[in-house]
Amino acid sequence: MKKIQMVDLLSQYNKIEQEINEAVINVIKSSAFINGPEVKLFASELQDYLHVKHVIPCGNGTDSLQVSMMALNLKPGDEVITTTFTFIATAEVIALLGLTPVLVDVCPDTFNMDPEAVKKAITPKTKAIVPVHLFGQCAEMETLLNMAKEHNLYVIEDTCQAIGAEYTFSNGIVKKAGTMGTASGVSFFPSKNLGCYGDGGAVFTDDDELAEKLRMTVNHGMKVRYYHDAIGVNSRLDSIQAAILRIKLRHLDEYIKARQIAAGKYNDAFAGCDKLVTPYVAPNSTHVFHQYTLVTKGVDRNGLHQHLMDKNVPCAIYYPVPLHKQKAYLDPRYKDGMFPVSEMLCDSVISLPMHTELDDEQIKYITDSVLEYVNK
Ligand SMILES: *Cc1c(COP(=O)(O)O)cnc(C)c1O
Repeated sequence: MKKIQMVDLLSQYNKIEQEINEAVINVIKSSAFINGPEVKLFASELQDYLHVKHVIPCGNGTDSLQVSMMALNLKPGDEVITTTFTFIATAEVIALLGLTPVLVDVCPDTFNMDPEAVKKAITPKTKAIVPVHLFGQCAEMETLLNMAKEHNLYVIEDTCQAIGAEYTFSNGIVKKAGTMGTASGVSFFPSKNLGCYGDGGAVFTDDDELAEKLRMTVNHGMKVRYYHDAIGVNSRLDSIQAAILRIKLRHLDEYIKARQIAAGKYNDAFAGCDKLVTPYVAPNSTHVFHQYTLVTKGVDRNGLHQHLMDKNVPCAIYYPVPLHKQKAYLDPRYKDGMFPVSEMLCDSVISLPMHTELDDEQIKYITDSVLEYVNK
């Protein structure tokens, strides 16, 4: 059996090796390493794929969220609502800009922002909501967008884990993750569903004026060279990464399919096991399975984690500690037990290997290893 990996980027590369190598060498020969034609072509191809007006490439997913908040002129004292069950970057950029992160709990089935909790968290200081499409499934956008409209709030989607996921509104309109809010940030970190071979990111928006501000923000606040109209940052997508992403974008739908097929096989193997809750897929969103995450019930989760590691099955706990319990984010407003769903999830979730190259033999070994421990 081929060695099981959490993410198998080498096997994926082997299938597109020639295309990738050629593209990389072409950039090197062109010497257009920064803001070269590949970056513009990639942005325009991604716009077409997403059906969004503007894709503004930047250095990484964290930056994509930060520059969105900067370009929207969020100011110290403004409150930004996000969930306590996410990767730290989401809240980090809020805090870094001197804004106030306001944390809310998630829904127990989708692990995404609970709209009821958001409603209760809105105050006159609230300026934005940052829903995270966690693990590859869209948050409950219709409810959140309506709430945002009613209270005049920006919606900044954290699409880092969900590029390609589709959300269906009650009127039948289908939109891709990251194209529903005011702006959206995405990461092209190697292990993400559309990953490059280094760091990369982008912001999506349909708003022309905001797009122009975003382009300035990622480029030292300048529109005309050496004239700086705003305080910006330096956040760029390299041409080499853009060239790699152009190739991988052509395979994205097929990569999503491969993840969904692997998830289906996991689901089949765990069906009927009442100690494992397999991922719930909401009727109004597709799931692109950035992670395949089980909720364990009455199982020693850490024992299962160790058992799998001992059997050479890589696995991971996303996430072991909710944001409100992180040392850097401790806040007297938040007490233990205030976000019971997130706390329960942190104690009981486990994510299995998930990538585009899992084969049946590997899946059988992984699921047998899980069941061996759970049913013991
Ligand atoms: C990966 C990720 C980020 C950050 O992306 P980077 O490219 O690593 O900066 C932000 N939010 C979520 C939910 C992520 O998964």
